[in-house]
Amino acid sequence: MGEANNMSETRYSEPVSVDEVVTLLSEDEDAKCVAGGASLVAMMNARLLEPTGLISLRRVDEIRTIEKSADGSVQIGAGMLHREVASSDELEGGHSVVRRAAAQIANPVVRNMGTLGGSVSHADPAADYPSALAAVGADIEIAGSHGRRTVPATEFFTDWYETALQSGELVTAAILPPVPPGSAGVYEKLAKVKGDLGIAMVAMVLAMDGDTCSHLSIAVGGCGPAPVRLPDAEKSLLGGALSEAGIRELGQALSEATDPVDDVRASADFRRLLIPRMVARAFSTAQEELGA
Ligand SMILES: Cc1cc2nc3c(=O)[nH]c(=O)nc-3n(C[C@H](O)[C@H](O)[C@H](O)COP(=O)(O)OP(=O)(O)OC[C@H]3O[C@@H](n4cnc5c(N)ncnc54)[C@H](O)[C@@H]3O)c2cc1C
Repeated sequence: MGEANNMSETRYSEPVSVDEVVTLLSEDEDAKCVAGGASLVAMMNARLLEPTGLISLRRVDEIRTIEKSADGSVQIGAGMLHREVASSDELEGGHSVVRRAAAQIANPVVRNMGTLGGSVSHADPAADYPSALAAVGADIEIAGSHGRRTVPATEFFTDWYETALQSGELVTAAILPPVPPGSAGVYEKLAKVKGDLGIAMVAMVLAMDGDTCSHLSIAVGGCGPAPVRLPDAEKSLLGGALSEAGIRELGQALSEATDPVDDVRASADFRRLLIPRMVARAFSTAQEELGA
């Protein structure tokens, strides 16, 4: 196990494996994992968090990989930096929705610090990964003293800044299932200024077989505590040509299913108005990419 130092009253450890992280978490329930530190350090500086221990994930190499399997699924380790995800060649076709979301996080400095695991664990509803992971149908892999378990991204984000993570657990990966060959992955983000957290996000995976919509999954982010997907409404567009009316109806249904709030970035009403327009734009971008 890596060195442990006493820095003021906070114990700092640098374990080198997931098992060691789990052991350290089980020994001190008030300890926190620190990945990039982009959000955690700000919260500590503001005294919103005062962990008794900091468990650095920096040297845990097993969560610092991105791997594509023979079946086309892709596993992104929790320790992957946003910059690395944003430039990964493994994320093609429909999977590129995750790559594109990572590329729109903040600015190069934050993308060079922050990690996928830190972002999903922090669970800021305005963050970029949640809707992209929900759209692609990802599972979040979690390790704890029980071993490993997976939770669908659509169930992982449970409330404002709340997740399915239990005490003593850490996120180890996001597992993206295979996407249909020839699919497109599109990520639309509206922010007040480039690099800011989003007002609203739409993430989509679309595949067409000629004029027929053969695969559709779409999620809205930034408009409530967790990303919103409507699988039944998605299904209603499958098996036929895409029509303006059908797309408008889906956008409206998604807008009605969200639970946005008024905040410094925008009002809830503005967000509800935006969603159908962003959905329409996502379809047109994806169709253009697919040459449909
Ligand atoms: C100026 C600024 C602008 C930003 N803009 C955006 C933006 O536009 N879009 C966006 O999506 N995000 C944005 N962020 C957030 C950024 O993406 C952070 O990197 C991310 O939220 C936290 O990642 P981290 O690796 O730094 O985690 P840390 O700050 O190290 O940790 C965050 C929290 O997650 C926990 N944690 C970390 N890793 C794990 C793990 N593997 N398992 C369990 N718990 C873990 C920590 O204990 C802590 O509670 C911004 C941040 C800053 C500072």
